[in-house]
Amino acid sequence: MAKSEKTETKAKELKEKLFSVKKNAAAVMSEAELKKCDKFCEGYKSFLDAAKTEREATAFIRAEAESKGFVPFDKTKKYKAGDKLYYVNREKSVILAVVGKEPIANGVNLLAAHIDSPRLDLKQNPLFEKDEVGYFKTHYYGGIKKYQWPTVPLSLHGVIVKADGTKITVRIGEDEGDPVFCVSDLLPHLASAQYKRPATELIKGEELNIIIGSRPFKEDDASEAVKLNLMLLLNEKYGITETDFLSAELEAVPAFKAKDIGFDRSLVGAYGQDDRVCAYTELMAILDAKSIARTAVAILTDKEETGSDGNTGLCSAYLKYFIADLAASMGVRGRDVLANSKCLSADVNAAYDPTFPDVFEKNNCAVLNGGVCVTKYTGSRGKSGTSDASAEFVGEVRSILDKNGVIWQTGELGKIDIGGGGTVAAYIANLDVDTIDVGVPVLSMHAPYEITAKTDIYAAYKAFKAFIG
Ligand code: MN
Ligand code: MN
Repeated sequence: MAKSEKTETKAKELKEKLFSVKKNAAAVMSEAELKKCDKFCEGYKSFLDAAKTEREATAFIRAEAESKGFVPFDKTKKYKAGDKLYYVNREKSVILAVVGKEPIANGVNLLAAHIDSPRLDLKQNPLFEKDEVGYFKTHYYGGIKKYQWPTVPLSLHGVIVKADGTKITVRIGEDEGDPVFCVSDLLPHLASAQYKRPATELIKGEELNIIIGSRPFKEDDASEAVKLNLMLLLNEKYGITETDFLSAELEAVPAFKAKDIGFDRSLVGAYGQDDRVCAYTELMAILDAKSIARTAVAILTDKEETGSDGNTGLCSAYLKYFIADLAASMGVRGRDVLANSKCLSADVNAAYDPTFPDVFEKNNCAVLNGGVCVTKYTGSRGKSGTSDASAEFVGEVRSILDKNGVIWQTGELGKIDIGGGGTVAAYIANLDVDTIDVGVPVLSMHAPYEITAKTDIYAAYKAFKAFIG
């Protein structure tokens, strides 16, 4: 062997030993494992279609949990290892718990995902008619690129509470025979002035008006005949009057169903994958939990996309109180449980987009098929707003993932100072819990149609399962 060849071999050996290796999960996984990913994602897609809002997700999760033997948490009862509990917060968030064999004073293993997604909420006075077209006025919810939402078929979900307290559930635009709704956009032929607007104003918030009808009420040629006809239809269908919109929560979301993307069917395309991809994987992981050592708690929360404030969001005390009540029922202080607890804040991260490489720093971004993404810190600028997991806790999580054969990667949310963002991690960490972000990389995050890779979804499920133990 020539001297240079020898050096090359040595360098190769040393590189293998010393450098970290990035793996493409789809290349590394066996055919059998890939089949498992595909199978798992069939259930995931059904969940996405059934649970497009936090209320629908809550109902889905409760039903799944009940079918697996979970019972409503009762703080006056005593629980033992193996007991499965759930707590529903105002129909919009859920906590599931499986009691472990170890004393709860040792802390719990907590998984946290959110079940709200960006969308168009109806305003309190939504119904109007303009130039003989009927509309709902909306106020967008969460961080959306407003120009992405016109010309997308929309369905309507939510509840209307009438003056007498009766609650009507609305879900229209999802079934094959249902009508859908839509925001219009200008034709390119007449858009020269619109094109000059900055992209953030290409479609303005007050232009996100949803078309809901166009036929006038016939027996009267008074004004607002279209609105009258629509109100009549709504009254017949739901028994409501216009005033009932005041106490309603109606949410317009993309009407399309979750689908495989690509000739190889390797990706999932759907609305609301941020963060239902982590909600579903987390749910499946805790539903599977059997005779675990530490108590496992999965929280599926609302309001993350608007900053986690409100009594169903994670800035509220409901998680803290749940832990306190569970701890008290076992004769332990809640704060002592929290101080010994560990949390995977299960939220999506940005997947590197080869079409838009400039916003990513290649050594520190997540890629599709790179496995579940572990994000030590989030935030903006100088890590503002992050909880930044400790090296010790990252080390612990890393070893759990490796021991359990989970394919994982790390990633930041884009280059420094390009933008940034946060998750619920900081709010949980603020309760004195060791917390780190672990989730699925997403392309086109917050768009009406988001893209994830099946291998990453399955890796997330495996990660959450391994963490619960
Ligand atoms: Mn999220
Ligand atoms: Mn989000």
